[in-house]
Amino acid sequence: MNIPQDTILKIREKFPILNRKVFNRKLVYLDNAATSQTPRQVVEAIDNMYFHTKANVHRGVHTLSQEATDMQEQTRRHIKDYINAESIEEIVFTRGTTEAINLVTSSFGEAFLHDGDEIILTVMEHHANIVPWQLLQKKINIKINVVPINSRGELDLDVYRSLFNSHTRLVSFTHVSNVLGTINPAKEIIKIAHEHGVKAMVDGAQGAPHLKVDVRELDADFYVFSSHKMYGPTGVGVLYGKRDLLEQMPPYQGGGEMIAHVSFEGTTFADLPFKFEAGTPDFVDIAAFNSALDFIEDTGMDIIAGQEHILLEHTTERLVNEIPGIRIFGTAPNKSGVISFLLENAHHYDTGMLLDKLGIAVRTGHHCAQPLMTALGIEGTVRASFAVYNTLDEADAFVDALKRVNQILS
Ligand code: PLP
Repeated sequence: MNIPQDTILKIREKFPILNRKVFNRKLVYLDNAATSQTPRQVVEAIDNMYFHTKANVHRGVHTLSQEATDMQEQTRRHIKDYINAESIEEIVFTRGTTEAINLVTSSFGEAFLHDGDEIILTVMEHHANIVPWQLLQKKINIKINVVPINSRGELDLDVYRSLFNSHTRLVSFTHVSNVLGTINPAKEIIKIAHEHGVKAMVDGAQGAPHLKVDVRELDADFYVFSSHKMYGPTGVGVLYGKRDLLEQMPPYQGGGEMIAHVSFEGTTFADLPFKFEAGTPDFVDIAAFNSALDFIEDTGMDIIAGQEHILLEHTTERLVNEIPGIRIFGTAPNKSGVISFLLENAHHYDTGMLLDKLGIAVRTGHHCAQPLMTALGIEGTVRASFAVYNTLDEADAFVDALKRVNQILS
């Protein structure tokens, strides 16, 4: 795909933060897998709500409350269309991917899991899709099976197939690895689960920002993601769940909004999706998330994914050719814009710190994926991750800076 640089420069203009300097150098922001930057229109939507429409949602007959409710519910409708869910009842707002997974762990766990049951995770999961299951293990004696990866960082689907037995109840896996960049064959993984009568949850934290997601095409039972990685505000996440499943699951938290009627003798719960939305939601940021989805749609997922792919290919080629001894973790042909690497003779922290001094923002460490680090036999990596506003000039600035860092550290 050929994307004119003018197109990307126009997109960049929407992100004032990209003009700032770090250590008196032009910022090159390559930490997008941790959080993406936010376009002006999203910040303006937040401003606008605080200045004109702030009132608690679903609680008032007055104009402001109704307007605020409409704005929140408009985002819900937008998300439904964005991921092609069947109904708005299937879209539950959470604080992020992590909370959405905890909701499923706790509520699906209570409704459907019993001592002796088994679930399947993969070795490339973020801690957010590991630790909640381990917390559940303290209440229910479930077994966690783990799908390994091959040398390119792809899931071993033969082992995956072999992990099913009559006790298997759920498969939960990441759509895209936040470390390796591997785009997992989600549709196939889900199909295999369903052939065994097993439900499947997709951690879409790194999927929804970079891929066209169609939950019905995937046939996912649950799909979860975070706004802040999608050019949106912090504090907002989404749990998509198939309606019949959500209906069978008990509430996750109790409080306001999620009830139909409360008495000290007993309480009945609200219908979907409100059953899972106890307390005042982050309605300002939810409303502003709508503008982030507008940004993604106006830009076009083909441009977003296309630019990220161009950057990935260009940068990878230069790194491999120009930095002797560099090790890149994750070389799957189907890969998103994430490059995890180690310089031959340098600790990842030192590499990251020196890059920062040169204005390049990358992430270092275990990336909340310690089991994956153990499988790779390392403690951590340096990770550069792209978004649509990154340019080839920035990719080159990163590689040039890394060459300097490599000289200093070797
Ligand atoms: N899952 C994956 C694959 C991630 O990359 C992340 C964040 O980096 C999460 C889950 C957690 O997302 P959040 O911190 O927005 O809840």
